[in-house]
Amino acid sequence: MLTRREVRGYMATIKQRLNALKAHTQRAELAANRPLGSVCVLAVSKTKPAADIMQAYIAGQRHFGENYVQEALGKQAELSAFDITWHFIGPIQANKTKAIACHFDWVHSVDRLKIAQRLSEQRPPSLPPLQVCLQVNISQESSKSGIMLQDLSALITAVEGLPRLRLRGVMTVPEPEQDVALQRLPFRMLYHAVEQLNRPELDTFSMGMSDDLDAAIAEGSTLVRIGSALFGARS
Ligand SMILES: *Cc1c(COP(=O)(O)O)cnc(C)c1O
Repeated sequence: MLTRREVRGYMATIKQRLNALKAHTQRAELAANRPLGSVCVLAVSKTKPAADIMQAYIAGQRHFGENYVQEALGKQAELSAFDITWHFIGPIQANKTKAIACHFDWVHSVDRLKIAQRLSEQRPPSLPPLQVCLQVNISQESSKSGIMLQDLSALITAVEGLPRLRLRGVMTVPEPEQDVALQRLPFRMLYHAVEQLNRPELDTFSMGMSDDLDAAIAEGSTLVRIGSALFGARS
């Protein structure tokens, strides 16, 4: 049986959830002594229909994240009249880099040089450079994509040499934890590791999802990737 809170969650519209999420993000920014507006909300619309994206768009949302190339291309075609900034956040297969380079503004999940080189070569000259984050496997889970922290510096140097990419920062998906204090540790570790590299051009920390956004914002996230808290649970 659903709790009262869950029933409210189901019945809330995407617009209501988006407003609640923005208010929540602002409270987390203030709690962390950070300027209002320092955290961008990326709406993760994987598995959700274009109609849901349209509802969020009408409510003011402009940044959307997708994980699967074919699914994303279909929705992008349906929504071509809208001024959307598209972010690719899923694992990248080499045979999908061309479609990603042609149809996205940002990629958060670059974790090897070969993929970065292909994205740079395949980025159409008519488009601005592709904005890129490097994905770090901060919890060192064998099942997860991302580079190990000790390899980050070398990959940054290599990717910065690629002409059609603009390296913006890092992304991570830590191992799930319930406790906020434990959730904060991997975010803090990544934030400090990047700070120590002393590269001010790396201004993006893509950290935090529906269940750990407070911890991520407390530790310096500049972009939270929110799916289920905005669009409801995925089946
Ligand atoms: C699905 C996904 C999200 C959103 O997750 P929620 O828990 O639904 O907010 C964020 N980041 C990545 C990389 C994802 O694959």
